[in-house]
Amino acid sequence: MKNRDCTAEQKDKDYIWHPFTQMQDWVKEEQLVIAAGEGIKLIDTQGREYFDGVSSLWLNVHGHRKQAIDQAIIGQLDKIAHSTMLGLANVPSAELAEQLVAIAPAGLARVFYSDSGSTAVEIAVKMAYQYWQLKGRKQKKQFVTLTNAYHGDTIGSVSVGGIDLFHRIFQPLLFQTIHAPSPSCYHCTLGDNPQQCGMACAQRLHDILAERHDEIAAVVVEPLVQGAAGILTQPEGFLRRLRQWTKEYDVLLIVDEVATGFGRTGKMFACEHEGVNPDIMTMAKGITAGYLPLAATLTTAEIYNAFLGGQQEQKTFFHGHSYTGNPLACAAALANLRVFREEKVLASLPAKIAAARASLAPFREMLHVGDVRQCGLIMGIELVEDKISKTPYRGEGALTMGDRVCRQARRAGLIIRPLGDVIVFMPPLASTPDQIKEMLAIIQRSVASVT
Ligand code: PLP
Repeated sequence: MKNRDCTAEQKDKDYIWHPFTQMQDWVKEEQLVIAAGEGIKLIDTQGREYFDGVSSLWLNVHGHRKQAIDQAIIGQLDKIAHSTMLGLANVPSAELAEQLVAIAPAGLARVFYSDSGSTAVEIAVKMAYQYWQLKGRKQKKQFVTLTNAYHGDTIGSVSVGGIDLFHRIFQPLLFQTIHAPSPSCYHCTLGDNPQQCGMACAQRLHDILAERHDEIAAVVVEPLVQGAAGILTQPEGFLRRLRQWTKEYDVLLIVDEVATGFGRTGKMFACEHEGVNPDIMTMAKGITAGYLPLAATLTTAEIYNAFLGGQQEQKTFFHGHSYTGNPLACAAALANLRVFREEKVLASLPAKIAAARASLAPFREMLHVGDVRQCGLIMGIELVEDKISKTPYRGEGALTMGDRVCRQARRAGLIIRPLGDVIVFMPPLASTPDQIKEMLAIIQRSVASVT
């Protein structure tokens, strides 16, 4: 065997296949290896520190190595790490279910666990489909989805997604959905004057529901902001109208709070901004404050009750995973909710969101910033080659302009990831207003030096 570099970086390059990554490029370049974390910082194997500007992929809430969560996991380890939920219950999952129902929008009464945002959506889709079958409305099989939606990477969650780059190759494997246009004011092609938005996007949804409600099982939507689409924020009232119409036309509303849940938008769940109570709601990412894989699909008593019956009636929901309701992850989630309560995290958010808003304002004056979008502590800065015509960068070589800016930010001590030419900034909720300002100042300097 030849003499090999046995660093973690080399082992990674020799053995790992990274998600969403062109590995041919990955193995050629120097890669950062994270060895530790502290608060809102990540620390690499060389001891260098970086702000975790995307919360380790939109997950982290209270910072890394949060004592209360570390201790809760250790405490649970002293009892048991895992036992199955097939034929058995466990203590943390039962306690957590009660607390999730208590904080979720009114009407959501039952919790079905899984382990990622994708599986939570997969479950939501299967639940909605089977619900109508059980109700005898067998023609209600269709799902309405928004263009550019992202709901995960399993075949079902990809089917209800709409990002062409990720999904095109899998088209033959997917079920078809009815697409409605994304609410996206900056890119709007529906003919509205943005100053006097008549919300033509919502109207299209209405028309689809009015025409085809007999065959539609559910509308699936990311509330308030479509994250992976490029932080596309929705006009106020969009979700509220959607709820009103889905009720009117007897169609279920599935709200995917995987990215927006657990304080990200300034409230515990994004639905609350619009006073919306969905029929099915998914949550993951921040549920364990970014510690362990866990997800949940919540639904109403009405939907749950439709699945009740004797064995011969075949109403059981046949779905589950090996790690469904994992006690360790549920213990982390319980600790997460305790920190929310004890440290009054939600009450601390308006000052942080305002600090972010103030620091984002100067970006709007920058030559190559087309749009700046913010929903609580979810932010997107869209770079364009020409601001007047909104012409995107053509892209030279393998790197987008977004990549270049993020590389520059990394050199200055901030980890962020772009979505195309949209710079995404999603700091942990634990960031102070000053830290948020400092991180946005790094982004501003990076944009100025690269574009
Ligand atoms: N739904 C939304 C809205 C998301 O943003 C994501 C991930 O970014 C998912 C679902 C998929 O979650 P996971 O990556 O945990 O499978």
